Amino acid sequence: MSNTYKMPDLNSEVVRLRRQVAKQLDAARHNEQVHNRFQAIELALLSAQNFCEIATYLQGDFMETQRLGAVSLILLDSNNEIPSALCATNGEHKCPSGIMLTQDAGQIEFLHSMEQVPFLSRYRADEHQWLFKGVRDREGSIVVLPFIRREQLIGCLALFSRDPQRYEAGAATEFLQRLAAVTAICVENCLNYERLRRLSLTDALTGLANRRELEKWMNIEISRALRETLPLTCLYLDIDLFKKVNDVYGHDIGDQVLRKVAAVMLATVRTGDVVARYGGEEFVIILPGITGLIAIETAERVRCAVAETSIEITGQAPLQVSISVGLASFIPKSGSIGDSGEIAEQLLGRADQALMQAKTQGRNRVVVD
Ligand code: GH3
Ligand code: MG
Ligand code: MG
Repeated sequence: MSNTYKMPDLNSEVVRLRRQVAKQLDAARHNEQVHNRFQAIELALLSAQNFCEIATYLQGDFMETQRLGAVSLILLDSNNEIPSALCATNGEHKCPSGIMLTQDAGQIEFLHSMEQVPFLSRYRADEHQWLFKGVRDREGSIVVLPFIRREQLIGCLALFSRDPQRYEAGAATEFLQRLAAVTAICVENCLNYERLRRLSLTDALTGLANRRELEKWMNIEISRALRETLPLTCLYLDIDLFKKVNDVYGHDIGDQVLRKVAAVMLATVRTGDVVARYGGEEFVIILPGITGLIAIETAERVRCAVAETSIEITGQAPLQVSISVGLASFIPKSGSIGDSGEIAEQLLGRADQALMQAKTQGRNRVVVD
């Protein structure tokens, strides 16, 4: 028996190797594309400056490129601070579609107890429809990604696909988990930014809007009044003989009085009205949409509410203070234009003049300019 050595068929070996290399190159290219897509998603999320931008991206480019039927961002808002973050970005307390706020942690707490995180499931309308407003499909699959920051559940991202097989239990979820982590960081950044922004616009003693915030709101409201030819009333309010309160009871009790008066004012006006501490013991209230008798009645209501409030002081008889109010209205003519900053300054000036008259006429009264 002789050993015969069979020469390898070099040509077919080269063809086989070439095919193998081409396949690996294809896989590498595919991986690179996937990686680039993920990176683009992360960059878009990380560059979002506010909730509106996060929601707009998730509802737009993200939903389209990921071929999704719906995307929902559900945020736990225990301290009711997100509406003002939304307000800061679009000028109104309006939640962009795709963002759902809940103050009830129980609503999404099921995410904590799940063994399988993220939660992937066939779509069942009776159980999952609340997650996706507007989805009328009967079939599909969903994934719910909890946002955990510092061991706290702060919300979740829910994705709906019309493909029932897309999010099946056991599917690879590394990308989804990373997406949840990045989105959670972005949500938290927006909240922190909002907290800082609010601090800079809030009067630390009373919690009311400060002068800077008032100026912003006056501009917004005057622009709206001009646009919609609606009136606007400005009240300038000042605590009467407040120096005496400080002199008799001390500065701390004075501060307590300021806080109480601020709270009474805020509780007496409507939700859309702006109440600000202008400085010291002076306040400004903007009443959008009203003038004439209704405005006077509102001013009187605030004045009476303050006068009737007893401020409890430990170890002493309750204290009562009164306020004087100057009232001025802005009534735009149809089609009139104007500089909202200038109009605001004039309006405040007129209300301040009226306030001075209220003081000279004996205090604890409303004077209309
Ligand atoms: P009028 O009725 O004419 O307004 O008299 P008034 O005493 O209220 O007015 P005046 O301007 O003489 O005094 C205002 C006082 O408000 C003086 C100031 O010490 C006090 N004040 C201003 N800011 C604060 C504050 O943040 N805390 C306290 N406790 N007092 C303040
Ligand atoms: Mg005063
Ligand atoms: Mg004063």
